Amino acid sequence: EMHPKHLALADRMVLRCRYHMAPFSVQERKSPAPSRREVELSKVIREALEPALFLELYPRTGVDVFIEVLQADGGTRCASITAAALAIADAGVPMRDLVVACAAGKVDDKVVLDLHDEEDKLGAADVPVAYMPSLDAITLLQMDGILTPNEFQQAVEIAMSGCKKIYEMQKEALKTKYMVVKDIEEKEEEEVEE
Ligand code: UDP
Repeated sequence: EMHPKHLALADRMVLRCRYHMAPFSVQERKSPAPSRREVELSKVIREALEPALFLELYPRTGVDVFIEVLQADGGTRCASITAAALAIADAGVPMRDLVVACAAGKVDDKVVLDLHDEEDKLGAADVPVAYMPSLDAITLLQMDGILTPNEFQQAVEIAMSGCKKIYEMQKEALKTKYMVVKDIEEKEEEEVEE
């Protein structure tokens, strides 16, 4: 149920995302107050996740996603999208597909995958991509910096290939959780029988 009630929509679910960086998550202390960057990232993360949800099937309901970055080393929007999609699936919310994100960029004239903080800051460009692999649909595409059309094409392609690798890990993480639950249930049944 949506809280507060007056924010509920009669024809769809409302997805709310809050991206926040802990003050100790970066080299130079960050103010705990929400920055312009955090407000923007909350919005783009929500927009990257929405296409995976059946919003129209759940009128008057709300799903809240709280992202707290504890340690940042570049690529936090991508990690946030990947983790949030997994959390929504784990919570049992039906989805069209998982959303997975990964960035590519240009460092020393080379197009590389998954930039860390220094590469992000010193590199020539950063292209975060969020993707639904089974549906082959991109839900977020941003670019910071300058690339030639060829380099851009290459960056999107390697970012998508990175997404596909992480997608397998997401699915494995979901399955492993249920395997652990099943193991515990089986052990409990054995104990009861004994
Ligand atoms: N960063 C920082 N202080 C800030 C915001 C960001 O040191 O107040 C660093 C952090 O490591 C982050 C990186 O800069 O991961 C790149 O930030 P960007 O805005 O490109 O977003 P991200 O790559 O994390 O999605």
